[in-house]
Amino acid sequence: MPEKRAFPIRLDSLSGKPSSKLSPKLGLTLGNAARPVTMQAKPVKAADASLGMDSAAVRARMVQKLAASGIQDALVLKAMGTVERHRFVETALVNQAYEDTSLPIGLGQTISKPNVVARMIELLRNNAPGLLGRVLEIGTGCGYQAAVLSHLATEVYSIERLKGLHEKARLNLRSFRLHNLHLLFGDGMQGFAKGAPYAAIIAAAGGESLPQAWLDQLAVGGRLVAPMVTPAGHQALVVVDRTPTGYQQRVLEAVHFVPLKSGIS
Ligand code: SAH
Repeated sequence: MPEKRAFPIRLDSLSGKPSSKLSPKLGLTLGNAARPVTMQAKPVKAADASLGMDSAAVRARMVQKLAASGIQDALVLKAMGTVERHRFVETALVNQAYEDTSLPIGLGQTISKPNVVARMIELLRNNAPGLLGRVLEIGTGCGYQAAVLSHLATEVYSIERLKGLHEKARLNLRSFRLHNLHLLFGDGMQGFAKGAPYAAIIAAAGGESLPQAWLDQLAVGGRLVAPMVTPAGHQALVVVDRTPTGYQQRVLEAVHFVPLKSGIS
């Protein structure tokens, strides 16, 4: 069992200026005044014990299944094998943490299946030889996908519109000490202009169309992956590449994500 350490949570502004102690008010409002929260601290949950076995071995089996199902990007597979998914789910669901299933995370939201997380991030990376640059995630939820992304990008900005989940993700992520992951509370339909342009944008909630802010904040040469309701009336994964001359969109397989909603709550 790793030792318990109580690191202070540091709040970094985008100018890179650190402030020392966590104030409960900071980092909880967005609009244009959003402040990213850099994750640092380290409490340890009892989840390891309740998994009842070496979680690395269980994750390795999950990764084998992901590879067998067609995920090929070695860096994605490595990140999926690294992040402890069981630390993001309720104790009662820990035994299902490495099954290919979505699970409830509270407030009517769900953590996506490992297969969908891996597929979307593989699309997002588009066979990049190294790390992605700055990435924006819309829909932090419990923080799992954000943690995976943090292993594959130089900086990750992840935004959540439900305060309860934003705070839950903050707690879940504390023990991982992911210094390049910045959690934001706000309406992700506005994107996060201060971090733009993004090499990649990924959404974990789907609407009827792609918000203009996402397209605007995508770098030229960047890629966006999101669920979206198609004209046929079902939700599908959409990949948008921004080229020097415009945007190219492809609609891929059907998916089932929670709805993208505007405003905060
Ligand atoms: N990636 C998450 C998945 C969470 S489910 C995980 O690993 O757990 C999708 C999340 O998107 C929900 O938490 C929902 O509240 C959030 N969401 C929906 N609309 C949003 C918006 N406009 N801005 C930010 N988050 C949004």
